[in-house]
Amino acid sequence: MKLRNILSLVALLLLVMACSTNPFTGKQTMALVPNSQLFPTAFQQYDQVLSESKVITGTAQSEMITRVGQRISVAAERWLNANGYEGYLKDYKWEYTLIDDNTVNAWCMPGGKIVFYTGILPIAQSETGVAAIMGHEVAHALANHGQQRMSADYIQQGVALAGNVAIQNDNDRAAFNQYYGIGSQVGVMLPFSRSHESQADEVGLILMAMAGYNPTEAAELWKRMEANSGGNAPPELLSTHPSNASRIQAITEMVPMAEAEAKKFGVTSFRPITKF
Ligand SMILES: [Zn+2]
Repeated sequence: MKLRNILSLVALLLLVMACSTNPFTGKQTMALVPNSQLFPTAFQQYDQVLSESKVITGTAQSEMITRVGQRISVAAERWLNANGYEGYLKDYKWEYTLIDDNTVNAWCMPGGKIVFYTGILPIAQSETGVAAIMGHEVAHALANHGQQRMSADYIQQGVALAGNVAIQNDNDRAAFNQYYGIGSQVGVMLPFSRSHESQADEVGLILMAMAGYNPTEAAELWKRMEANSGGNAPPELLSTHPSNASRIQAITEMVPMAEAEAKKFGVTSFRPITKF
């Protein structure tokens, strides 16, 4: 690349890069796309996914997804407020949807747009298992991990986004889904980094405990997830969330921390873990 091109690329990157503070690390994170542009794109993409899917409403299971989602989002709000991040969720428009699909996946888009597929429920096994997945996915979304993957990848490719990820066509949509680990029809989904995973594990545990769900179940959930991968075709969630013995061990070791954190918010006991 010619120097002139490099310089103009750098200038463009500086122009479109927005810095925001990650509430979980307190560090400045660099993102190419600010939330004000990302959220409308995410909301549009969420509606698109819903319009192309069999959305389940009015059943005990769909109501359970909504109930867990609301408790997790309330916990997130309380936790952020207590840690000096009042207003962090002001542009969030929480939504919780259960889709009739055998795909073993669940995700939370930027701005609080959540989907669970029915295919993940047998592995979740209980409302507490759902809470473990929900807490983890919401933690990724709060920390904008998908956005960071997207930014890192674009920088690596030397592609400037000009501050715009508006979804124009199927290719853009597929790329967006890839960065966020979304949907059942995307072939290759990018894994989260190890540091993103451990951060989402930690925050997810705190959120589920604050929401009144027993955090000891999280390690059991990831064990089931891994056992379910059965060699050839790993579940979608596992392909974006590479799991291993040391990660599961780390989750187990973080349980007392999550319980202590929940206690600060008055949560001293957890709902029983009842299988579906
Ligand atoms: Zn994850």
